[in-house]
Amino acid sequence: MQKTPVLIVGGGPVGLALACELGWRGIACTLIEQGDGTIVTPKMNEVNIRTMEFCRRWGIAEAVHTCPFPPDYPLDVAFVTTLSGYELGRVPRPPRISEASGPHSPMRLQVCSQMWFDPILQNFARTFPHVSLRYRTRLETFEQSESGVRAEIIDLENGRRERIDAQYLVGCDGANSVVRRSLGIGLNGETLGHPVHLHFRAPNLLETCGRKPATFFFTFDRHGVWSSVRIIDPLNAMWRLMVIDAGPGLTPETIDRKAYLRRALGLSIEVEWLGTSIWTRRSAVADRYSNGRIFLAGDAVHQLSPTGGLGMNTGIADAVDLGWKLAATLSGWGGDGLLSSYDAERRPIGTRSVNMAAEFHSEGEKHGGGTAMIEEDSLAGASVRARVGEALVRDVGRQFRTLGLQIGYRYEASPICVPDGTPPDRDDPENFVPSARPGSRAPHAWLGDGRSTLDLYGRGLVLLRLGTDSPDVSAIESEAAARRVPLQTITVMQPHVMQLYQHRLVMVRPDGHVVWRANALPPNAGELIDKLRGAEA
Ligand SMILES: Cc1cc2nc3c(=O)[nH]c(=O)nc-3n(C[C@H](O)[C@H](O)[C@H](O)COP(=O)(O)OP(=O)(O)OC[C@H]3O[C@@H](n4cnc5c(N)ncnc54)[C@H](O)[C@@H]3O)c2cc1C
Repeated sequence: MQKTPVLIVGGGPVGLALACELGWRGIACTLIEQGDGTIVTPKMNEVNIRTMEFCRRWGIAEAVHTCPFPPDYPLDVAFVTTLSGYELGRVPRPPRISEASGPHSPMRLQVCSQMWFDPILQNFARTFPHVSLRYRTRLETFEQSESGVRAEIIDLENGRRERIDAQYLVGCDGANSVVRRSLGIGLNGETLGHPVHLHFRAPNLLETCGRKPATFFFTFDRHGVWSSVRIIDPLNAMWRLMVIDAGPGLTPETIDRKAYLRRALGLSIEVEWLGTSIWTRRSAVADRYSNGRIFLAGDAVHQLSPTGGLGMNTGIADAVDLGWKLAATLSGWGGDGLLSSYDAERRPIGTRSVNMAAEFHSEGEKHGGGTAMIEEDSLAGASVRARVGEALVRDVGRQFRTLGLQIGYRYEASPICVPDGTPPDRDDPENFVPSARPGSRAPHAWLGDGRSTLDLYGRGLVLLRLGTDSPDVSAIESEAAARRVPLQTITVMQPHVMQLYQHRLVMVRPDGHVVWRANALPPNAGELIDKLRGAEA
């Protein structure tokens, strides 16, 4: 019988991120994954700014930056009739090499396919001797009691069954989550379509089509927007054609790959086919994210249209939220209510991501009706193309202008944050307004020594004292020490940081979200610490 504090089921990016977060916090865990860890036809490509901020904290951002996707490759999104036809419009997104991070984060979005990103997480998790990654191992059954979870797993190499006892089990086992279904937790949502993925290798595709490079091409022909063609690995000429909705009932055997490719490219070429898959585009959120000692994260609890690139990124933020709470609980300073705040905080964010992704998908559907004029070589055709192109950049292009979505999520009504009575800013998917209001991600500012304010947070609670006249905080420090809560006080004098944070005292928790702010000490420092650690009386 094996024992582990945390058993993670599923070694996709979310399970791996949880193993990294727990490993980084010194918490032992075992991850089991039924596959062998190899990704043949990757799904995820865009690692958003918030995930990159987590990677920065883990010390693996450089590995993501230097992944094999060429740094000088334009990340533009282009709308075309076909790859060899007319270009209707373009959303410019400069190559990684030519753009520094923006004013609101030390990081920028990276294009890094899952076939590179997952191994970066695997390698990082493996640097911790207390983290065990077990591939070709499947969860069969589990049961929980008041004191723990007992799981039966099977080694798929030799068929041997084992029992494993854990204090907590986390199901990161994807859309068909066995863990979620076994717990009887339902999904609330709808099916949005049946896309087809065709992965292929085609050297010199852009030259053959006479097309200026971009990362993503949406095709809009006489029938409207119907597919996207994406470069996955420019060095190895690996592409993916996605038919946005091929309708139900298709099988890989009945798909006419060549016909789809010819329609997307506007010409016939021979390619090396790498894989075909059909999947269901869903828009759904689980009714609950936990049950007793069992938690769920990632696609197991939210299934999104990929429009907006939010699926994995939302799941990784789940893992970070749950990770520090598990660590605090296992280390003894988290209160009884800390872990239950996971559902309260993350489920509304899952709903937010699912709804936004569906809205972005519907922007494409809005342009589902095409016109024969789009391909007409005439002045009238050119005028239709200009009008359609402008509308596509405005509407379908929205999913690529999402700074507010990426870093503007906040935990409203969280049971472990202390509201300060101020109203929330508008939750705008595009525009981001930094805020140190409780529940928000603590804002980024450069500190002048190459560090960002974000680099101050991570291990325990951080109490910022802003300015020379900020109150003495020894009462808070001693109440935290009495409860073995790791708390570091940091004095910040830079006026631009004080202006951004607006208050003289700001408390930031391990995941970088503000939990409390004020200009004076609270009436009862012990009660404040108890609220923040989920131990409110
Ligand atoms: C076309 C497309 C493009 C996308 N692009 C993006 C993007 O740019 N950015 C983004 O953020 N997201 C994107 N996504 C979404 C993203 O791929 C998923 O959200 C992400 O992979 C979910 O990760 P996960 O770890 O939760 O689940 P999964 O990746 O599904 O991993 C679950 C793992 O659990 C394992 N497992 C299941 N059951 C068991 C069991 N009983 N025992 C052991 N192991 C088990 C499975 O083998 C699997 O490896 C995209 C999705 C698609 C379809």
